Amino acid sequence: MDPFLAIKPLLEPLSLPLLDKKKVRASVLRLDLLHPLVSGNKWFKLRYYLTDALAQHKKRVITFGGAWSNHLLATAAACQELGLRTAACIRGERPAKLSATLDQAQSLGMELYFLTREQYRHKSIPESLTTEDDYLIQEGGIGALGVKGAATILDTVDKEQYSHILCAAGTGTTLAGLINAAPPTCEVIGIPVLSDTTDIDATLREQLQDRTACWQLQPGYEWGGYAKHPAALLNFMNELFAQSHIPTDIVYTGKLFYACLALVEKDHFDTGSQLLLVHSGGLQGNRSLSPDVLCFT
Ligand SMILES: *Cc1c(COP(=O)(O)O)cnc(C)c1O
Repeated sequence: MDPFLAIKPLLEPLSLPLLDKKKVRASVLRLDLLHPLVSGNKWFKLRYYLTDALAQHKKRVITFGGAWSNHLLATAAACQELGLRTAACIRGERPAKLSATLDQAQSLGMELYFLTREQYRHKSIPESLTTEDDYLIQEGGIGALGVKGAATILDTVDKEQYSHILCAAGTGTTLAGLINAAPPTCEVIGIPVLSDTTDIDATLREQLQDRTACWQLQPGYEWGGYAKHPAALLNFMNELFAQSHIPTDIVYTGKLFYACLALVEKDHFDTGSQLLLVHSGGLQGNRSLSPDVLCFT
């Protein structure tokens, strides 16, 4: 079941003067081009949950997310194509005006439930809102089936040729999948997008298959925390787009590309290294900005 896997090649070389100067080669796995709404790593994280939901004859998928959540929009769009209903639990009171992302998810049939902060924190869905026909997916697709799906990201490339694979890490689900699927000669580097890496640490502790796998986290590129976007980050994203035509987002991939180039600059990678940057897609965070801030959409 893979209605969203594009046939077109998703891999493209990244060519920037800094990479030439340091004799480091980089390719970008453009998962952002997979599907307009089921973008990036989200399809991979969802695929086995949705197979499971269909196999269990569930009628509706219920999950969690924020106002600009790539996960909610991807879930709404993927489930609509698969004939599953969807519902989302969102923290806080229903705002007078829905975010563009929630509005779009709702137009794809997603029912929106606004939970109190307390309910949200415990991820407890009030009984009145759910039935046994519901299939629950944790926020960000966290869990074993999410990791298993994320591992299949590397089925789309010839993974043996890379010395390093880099990705942004929110819950760490994608990172764990990549570590499980990477060849032993390849180091996987996660760039945390939050200052608090509790979720990432827990995911890695629970989900890594091989304790000796080669990976590391490179913290220090959070730009103040989740969805924080100082002008310097926005400038970097605009410049990257001008040079490479690669759109990035303020929450995840802007930080990934920035961190990668900062590590190249610091000679973190040996001459001759072959990097694979996993562009994990999802540009919803950019919709929270005023329209004139980025030179691309
Ligand atoms: C959700 C998301 C991530 C984070 O993935 P995790 O598996 O939670 O670490 C990274 N990049 C983009 C674009 C995302 O939407």
